[in-house]
Amino acid sequence: MPPPRCRAFAASVLIELTMLSRRPLLFALPFTALLLAPGLARASEAANAPPPGITWRGDFSQGGMVLGRAAPNLLPGLQLRLGERPISLGPQGEFVFGFGRDEAASQVFVLRRQDGSESSVPLSITKRQYDIQRIDGLPPAQVTPPAALLERIKRENARIAEARKINSASLDYLGGWVWPADGPVSGVYGSQRILNGEPRQPHFGLDIAAPTGTPVRASTAGIVTFADKDVYYTGGTVIIDHGHGINGAYSHLARLDVKVGQRVRQGEQIGIVGATGRATGPHLDWRVNWFDVRLDPQRLLPPR
Ligand SMILES: [Zn+2]
Repeated sequence: MPPPRCRAFAASVLIELTMLSRRPLLFALPFTALLLAPGLARASEAANAPPPGITWRGDFSQGGMVLGRAAPNLLPGLQLRLGERPISLGPQGEFVFGFGRDEAASQVFVLRRQDGSESSVPLSITKRQYDIQRIDGLPPAQVTPPAALLERIKRENARIAEARKINSASLDYLGGWVWPADGPVSGVYGSQRILNGEPRQPHFGLDIAAPTGTPVRASTAGIVTFADKDVYYTGGTVIIDHGHGINGAYSHLARLDVKVGQRVRQGEQIGIVGATGRATGPHLDWRVNWFDVRLDPQRLLPPR
């Protein structure tokens, strides 16, 4: 039996993966790599000193999140950017940004003062190794979904993308993170399959295997911005806005216990684990984004 996890399909092509399930190499996961994360964060922090008036701490690695604060005297008229991306500021100068799975090794943090003067600080982003599974010689049993299905997927992706564009003033992302379900990790951030030489979309979630019915909890507080019990790929899906573009997505739920617009506390039950959508078995897939930038949710969590 394969561990329960997502089927990472490309939107244009469906492949029957059940024929692969007898191949054990598919499910060898790099758990040891995760143990190195705290050390990496410290080393990368030392290499990335903030400009005067700014403090920050976090993980300057691919998939990492950085929390920062601007000094009060700097705040009036202050604008911050990561490259071309604007960074939102809270009333006490709070801000957050993050790095994607394949973020370039060099980034630039830009601080623009009220008088129009700018300071740029180069950032060095630690590259990561991901679990890449190459499987060749598969029969080309690829099926193009009917046009009606593609339209549905496109519609759903557009709604999810809208939810991830929300830039609220909430500072819930500062509240720390708890494991959203009990159970073993069955899929990690960044992993990717290359089938017959064709790369599939990488996996951006943390998969937690658990029996159907296991409570799913909000990892940190926020406002529900998306709740749909039947999304094609992700089944029962809840997205929670945690402020300043940080949002969490919870997928494959068998039941949703929250509605759009509802405020949830950290640890509050938002639904139950299921295998809805494209899943090989019951599990929770939990993702964290900074807008459309995919972060590694597991790096936010305390070890357990
Ligand atoms: Zn997943």
